[in-house]
Amino acid sequence: MLPSEIEKLSQEFETKTPQEIIRWALEEYWPEAALSSSFQTQSMPLLHMVTRINRSAPVFFLDTGYHFWDTLMFRERIASEWRINVVDLYRDHHWDVFARNHIRSLPLEDPDLCCYLHKVQPMQKALQDVKAWITGIRRDQTSARAHAKILELQPDGLLKVNPLLNWTKTDIARYMQEHNLPKHPLYETGYRSVGCAPCTVAIGMDDDDRAGRWAGRGKVECGLHTEMFRKKDIEELKRDFRIEVKEGAKEEKSAGV
Ligand code: SF4
Repeated sequence: MLPSEIEKLSQEFETKTPQEIIRWALEEYWPEAALSSSFQTQSMPLLHMVTRINRSAPVFFLDTGYHFWDTLMFRERIASEWRINVVDLYRDHHWDVFARNHIRSLPLEDPDLCCYLHKVQPMQKALQDVKAWITGIRRDQTSARAHAKILELQPDGLLKVNPLLNWTKTDIARYMQEHNLPKHPLYETGYRSVGCAPCTVAIGMDDDDRAGRWAGRGKVECGLHTEMFRKKDIEELKRDFRIEVKEGAKEEKSAGV
């Protein structure tokens, strides 16, 4: 499709249901379409919709090595009960020495680099094999997401499809209730948005749902849905995000990362 056609279709989709948009994406791009999911409570409606339309659709899960045990167990349970085609994604092994040497400090001292290694780069690699990427982002989640479009053509030709963009957390709750969907085990203990353990804390009833992610560190996005996702080169990343790769840089460079 031409960029102008995608732009026009994206406008038309503003009045369509998420199911209509998902069905279009899976029919138009099958078998080169995939979904990404973090298997938290708010991910359940999209997973539920996709599996009802095409159970074979690959669901990319970023196994960062920093997840709560509860998340991994919940992922196993949902994948098994709903018979989901989950594909686990891991950091490139060229980063192993560096990541092991900084396993405790990296999420706290350099979360942008940590997210790049464990989330952005593995997703970039997995998406090389598909033409359409279905995500669960919503405009009401962050200021960066407020300006997203339902269809977004990436510079490399990948089409990002955001069928839930117009939904609010009330819509999510309504769908969860209507379909009696399970919640992440930590949800009721104040973890309304669950990421990696070192970067997620429980929040109060009046807090924004994402207030517990990277709390107090001035970071609100992992990079999958920001400009960081377009960075394919570590030098470009370091320059634009002022990231400092400490010990281990030699291994990374010699590995051609
Ligand atoms: S969320 Fe935290 S632990 Fe997970 S990849 Fe990002 S910085 Fe690392």
